[in-house]
Amino acid sequence: MTFTLAQAAFVLLVVGWYVIRFPYARRARRTPVVRSARGPREIALLLVSLSGLGLVPLLYVATGFPQFAEYPFRPVQAWLGVLVALASLVMFHLTHRALSHNWSISLELRERHMLVTEGIYGRVRHPMYTAFWLWAVAQELLLPNWVVGFAGLVGFGILFFGRVAREERMMLESFGGEYRAYMSRTYRIIPLVY
Ligand code: SAH
Repeated sequence: MTFTLAQAAFVLLVVGWYVIRFPYARRARRTPVVRSARGPREIALLLVSLSGLGLVPLLYVATGFPQFAEYPFRPVQAWLGVLVALASLVMFHLTHRALSHNWSISLELRERHMLVTEGIYGRVRHPMYTAFWLWAVAQELLLPNWVVGFAGLVGFGILFFGRVAREERMMLESFGGEYRAYMSRTYRIIPLVY
């Protein structure tokens, strides 16, 4: 494993995520939204997350900026990063397949919205957010730069903690007891932990 290959692995993670998401995003666009909590706050959270998980690391791969925060490359760390990136992509695939037309980039409910509680959604309530946390960890491991590594964790962390309680409130208002029962038997992102 070399520094260049580790950077290539990060780019492949971004490309892989996009390839997985694209058909679902297209399908979602064709399914009308019946309830939306998207507003300036949600848009700001999405932009922060996009910067931390995408713009900052891709700028680093393209230009080496910010150079002052670099630390020595360690192949073992990068191999671990590859494994975490693969786990993230597997999670993205499973969660998109399970959510199907119910997926939205923001807090939205779509026509014929169904509460998904089976498969990967039987273990945790927010497995797609688990996949984004794994992305942030992979970014940290693959790119040997303190600023760029932490940008993903901080950027996605702000989206996650700024959104998850509101998302659960929206689901509770829409699905009532069914979602309450689902909450009582599942964790948020890590089985048996949180
Ligand atoms: N928080 C989930 C989904 C992220 S996509 C996860 O991390 O896996 C965000 C949209 O998914 C929300 O707008 C909501 O409408 C929808 N959603 C969230 N949980 C859902 C569930 N269990 N079943 C169906 N739709 C869900």
